[in-house]
Amino acid sequence: MRICADCFKAEDWKNRFKLERKRFCSCSFCGKKAKTVDFSIFLSPLRQLLSLFSKNQRGENVVLLIERDFSIFSNESVAKRILQCVIQLSGNSFLLTDKVSYSSEVSSALTSWMKMKKGVVEEFRYFPSINPEDESWDKYFASKFAVIKKGSIFFRGRINESANKLYKKKKELGMPPREKARAGRVNPYGIPCLYLTDKADTTIYELRAAHGDLLSVGKFVIKENLNVVDFNYKPLLLDDIYEGKEKLFETVREFLLKKQIGLDLSKPVHRYGIKEIEYVPTQYICEYIKTSGADGVMFNSAVHHGGKNLVLFRSDKVKCTNVEVKTVDEPVMRFCR
Ligand SMILES: [Zn+2]
Repeated sequence: MRICADCFKAEDWKNRFKLERKRFCSCSFCGKKAKTVDFSIFLSPLRQLLSLFSKNQRGENVVLLIERDFSIFSNESVAKRILQCVIQLSGNSFLLTDKVSYSSEVSSALTSWMKMKKGVVEEFRYFPSINPEDESWDKYFASKFAVIKKGSIFFRGRINESANKLYKKKKELGMPPREKARAGRVNPYGIPCLYLTDKADTTIYELRAAHGDLLSVGKFVIKENLNVVDFNYKPLLLDDIYEGKEKLFETVREFLLKKQIGLDLSKPVHRYGIKEIEYVPTQYICEYIKTSGADGVMFNSAVHHGGKNLVLFRSDKVKCTNVEVKTVDEPVMRFCR
């Protein structure tokens, strides 16, 4: 069996081809005439990939699950052919047609997060019974920062209540003063944070601005490199696979945990109120991240497809460079998902 690099989408899997002797012939999986390598080099890594999952009637199709979370293969039909071949050649605990979910060994970090969420809301608010250190969360949050480069641009918006009194000053778009800091997904009441977005349009959706609203949008420049915890973390798995099962499982645990917390952080909330108690679990985890020395956290916008939120614990490393006032018009709102 021969396979070509175009059968993969993920860069790390594609790069593996550089190390191997190639032959020009038909790819056994996509049928294209191309430079191919012996499929057997991928057999063991792909078996390990499949070992992340176990049969579960309430689960999902393994091909779709791998595509959604790791985007390894070029398309669904190629993925099916490749994984079917792995199962046939080396056996597996489930068939390609079975429904699967992440094995309990991998989803354990997720279970801890669910327990902690319930714990900080219902049991111990300030000294939760589940200590993050017990779950090696230090490894995931305190030592794995993504860097936002100096010079990057972000935005913050405010809806003007009156056309006669517009927010036009740069300082009005900055971090709210302590006495006005309402609770948010990242910060508790009275401890302000600076909520930014990576696109000017994203602020419109994050603020739930309506057609006709007058919006002040501040542009912010990052003054020095920022260390943040990025909840959009998407791992490349092949290197981890080569390092062994423990490393692979650890990476996927981290991925699942960050993905879930990222979803909780970006949960859409109504412009006119949310029960503040619902913020407590994510506030807790963000405060934990703050103690590790991070400048902030980053997560996807749930209300503006492709938009990102950046929340900074302090505002001294950013500078507002200008403020623009605009009316929210219909085409922008139609873009909303
Ligand atoms: Zn191919």
